[in-house]
Amino acid sequence: MFTTRRLSTRIVGLFLGLLLLVQAAGFGAIRASIESSARQTLAAELQVGERVWRRLLEQRAESLVQGATLLAADYGFRSALGSGDTETLNSALENHAERIGATISAWVDAGLAVRAVHDASGGAAADLKALGRLAGEMARGKGGGGRIANIGGQPYQFVGVPVKAPLLIGWVVMGFPVGQEIVDDMRALSGLHVALLVPAADGRPRASASTLGAAATDALTARDERALIGGQEMVARRVPLADGGAAALLLRPVAEAVAPFRQLQQLMLAITLVGVAVFAVGSWFTARHVTTPLRSLVDASVQLGRGDYDQPLAHTERRDEIGDLAKAFDQMRVNIAAHAGEIRQLAYGDRLTGLPNRARFRDAVQQAIDAPGSALLSVVMLDLDRFKHVNDVLGYHFGDRVLKAVAERIAGQAVREGDLVARLSGDEFALLLPGTDGAGALAVAQRLVTTFELPLLLDDQMIDVSAGFGIASWPAHAGDADALLSRAEVAMYAAKRKTASALVYDPAIDAGSAQTLSLLSELRRALERDELRLHLQPKISVGSGALIGAEALVRWQHPQRGMVPPMEFIPFAEQTGFVRQLTLWMFEATTRAWPALRSLGLARVSVNLSTRDLIDGDLPAKLDTILQRHGVPASAFCLEITESAIMDEPQRAEATLNALSSAGFKLSIDDFGTGYSSLAYLKRLPVDELKIDKSFVMGMAREADDAKIVRSTIDLAHNLGLSVVAEGVENGPILEQLAALDCDEAQGYHIARPLPAAEFAAFARRWRERDASTAAVLH
Ligand code: C2E
Ligand code: CA
Ligand code: CA
Repeated sequence: MFTTRRLSTRIVGLFLGLLLLVQAAGFGAIRASIESSARQTLAAELQVGERVWRRLLEQRAESLVQGATLLAADYGFRSALGSGDTETLNSALENHAERIGATISAWVDAGLAVRAVHDASGGAAADLKALGRLAGEMARGKGGGGRIANIGGQPYQFVGVPVKAPLLIGWVVMGFPVGQEIVDDMRALSGLHVALLVPAADGRPRASASTLGAAATDALTARDERALIGGQEMVARRVPLADGGAAALLLRPVAEAVAPFRQLQQLMLAITLVGVAVFAVGSWFTARHVTTPLRSLVDASVQLGRGDYDQPLAHTERRDEIGDLAKAFDQMRVNIAAHAGEIRQLAYGDRLTGLPNRARFRDAVQQAIDAPGSALLSVVMLDLDRFKHVNDVLGYHFGDRVLKAVAERIAGQAVREGDLVARLSGDEFALLLPGTDGAGALAVAQRLVTTFELPLLLDDQMIDVSAGFGIASWPAHAGDADALLSRAEVAMYAAKRKTASALVYDPAIDAGSAQTLSLLSELRRALERDELRLHLQPKISVGSGALIGAEALVRWQHPQRGMVPPMEFIPFAEQTGFVRQLTLWMFEATTRAWPALRSLGLARVSVNLSTRDLIDGDLPAKLDTILQRHGVPASAFCLEITESAIMDEPQRAEATLNALSSAGFKLSIDDFGTGYSSLAYLKRLPVDELKIDKSFVMGMAREADDAKIVRSTIDLAHNLGLSVVAEGVENGPILEQLAALDCDEAQGYHIARPLPAAEFAAFARRWRERDASTAAVLH
């Protein structure tokens, strides 16, 4: 995430950098061209300015010449010339000079000698020689229009007019100061600044007039280039005025010329700034467009790395390269997921949960035992109850998810370092707890029992999970890993048998299981030695109280142990398959007893079937053989099957049930309410009767919940057209309750315990007499 964030920053940075580079180059180019064109413009302006300046001087000269010509033609002046009277001449010069605004006026004779001078400036008279020289130059036609000369440190514009009578007798020379007035005119005309520079007495120039005001002295050092004048950068052009260094300096402020370009530049700058902003936002979005999916790809790969292959990738719908990448990535995920099981199996042993398998667990236990300094450890083994039914009813996929969830719950208890959780087989798990003794391990197991009490919630399905826990410790119970595991297993099966949630191994359990083994081989001989007995438990009609049936229950008359109850050998008979012979023996015995039972008024007799019977496709034929032999109809029998017996192998069970039903047997679901089957499923089966499990019936007087279950089971069964039998009716009030709930039949110790077949007839007679005398069982 960190790196991709940097990537987007880098993309944005790069784009902005490039943009700024291009803009800076453009900016520089424009600036350079502004510079050069400003320079050109300024130079051109100054050139024009020079022409205007010269023209201005010429115009003035022309008007001065007119004034001088007028003087030369003036009668008074001519007669003063004729008189040769200097006084008169001077006053004539003075009059005229004043009239046309000349500062200096002089009469120069044909020999170029200055004869009379009027000098209003008061300093030029000393420079008579200069005046004479000027007149001479003008006489020779040089600067006839006007000539500028420096007189007394001040530039003057001179004009000379020849006086003829009729031959040339001399010259009238008039001089006008070139000063502030003309400088201001020039500024007004051209917009340029002007400074007049004249050499002073000490040889250094000074500004005699200028449009610059106080900054005029700055202009003294200006050449034909830039100069800083009055704090302003200006371009200058020097126009010589007269010999001796006087000059007019034409000046133009650079800023004024550049101003329009500056505006352009500012506009450029504004456009650049806006461009940068737009670009920044644009490239940021572009970068995000790329880096956001990249980031999610990174997250996804981290997830894949963790082994989570369930999350489909985002951005696969995109039609660009990112989309292609995401699609390729997602395909990779799917492929990995497909192989994940194998990969996990390679790495850990169990492909479903990722937990170690039995072999690895065994090795880990052995290693823990062998580890130097290891003093004790315990193994907790557990096996889920009825897990097979979860698989059968809800499907293997669902079963897998249950196993995963269970594995997670167990792993939650492996909190200490060195603790190890393994999946030994289908629904069998184990925990290795180093440094923990039996008591400590029992506490862990009990915590797990508590954890398991919370139902699993998968896809809105609540699944109750329970398990039997067995614990064995090293070195207390076993010396090596194999022995330890088998002791834990023995303890676990003992826990399941005794429906204790957890048991620590005890050598006595093993003795018990050894006993069990010998019991099974004994059971085999029991048939041959005819040690099995048929007991019958009466069933009555709840409504009328009449004896209407009986359930056949097996007993084992053991030569040493006495009467062995079925719960001590039926489960083992089922495990070994021996129960199939037992069922046939019971069926045969019941069939033989039937004629007597029928004569006692019974409608039918019930016989229990087990899972093993149901998966035996030949069962209907075998039963039929027995019926044939004794000439008894199938309709005399009700066959009781537990829900779990059906759910162990639903398809084969269903086939057998269909065959039995069409052979004429009534079918009953035994222990209803303890399994996983739903009525909706049972409806598909050719069932006639539901037998509510005794645990609910026995509890219904005390537990409101049990009463509710009984009530709703009766209602549902009736709705499905099934008759309902309540077993475990231990007292009168329960029977009354059942009557109120419209239950059909009842069976239980309140009516009678299972009786040896020989005693049944006597019971039936007693029952009928009592029935007749009281007219109702309910009292
Ligand atoms: P089940 O089929 O549910 O049989 C009913 C059991 O409930 C019988 O126990 C019976 O004695 C007992 N019972 C009857 N009324 C009451 C009562 O009011 N209160 C209490 N607490 N119990 C009552 P039993 O005979 O020990 O049989 C136990 C189980 O052994 C049977 O349960 C059945 O699953 C199995 N079993 C018995 N005989 C056979 C057989 O011939 N074949 C097969 N496959 N299983 C059998
Ligand atoms: Ca039964
Ligand atoms: Ca039962």
